[in-house]
Amino acid sequence: MAVVSEAVRAQVLTQAGGVCEYCRYPEEFHSRRFAVDHIFPRVKGGTDDLTNLALSCRNCNERKQDATEANDLGDGENRAAVPPARAATVGKTISRRAATFA
Ligand SMILES: [Zn+2]
Repeated sequence: MAVVSEAVRAQVLTQAGGVCEYCRYPEEFHSRRFAVDHIFPRVKGGTDDLTNLALSCRNCNERKQDATEANDLGDGENRAAVPPARAATVGKTISRRAATFA
């Protein structure tokens, strides 16, 4: 079941430049379409606004799930689980090496 319309997905795809916003893997090289992730999860009040939507490969999306924080592999601190390029927009910082969503 799609959580956003195809039109919105197309906007998210363009906004992301066609790559997973968490790991930067290109969708065109993957066999499955990427998911549209709610950076701040819908179940926790996140909106469908483009600023809250990120293109996410299935691996990153399944690992992140509804997490709002992730363990930064760089220094071990918990930080906002946001795509690295979006960190400035939410006033948080997260290392590009932050790959765990546990
Ligand atoms: Zn990814």
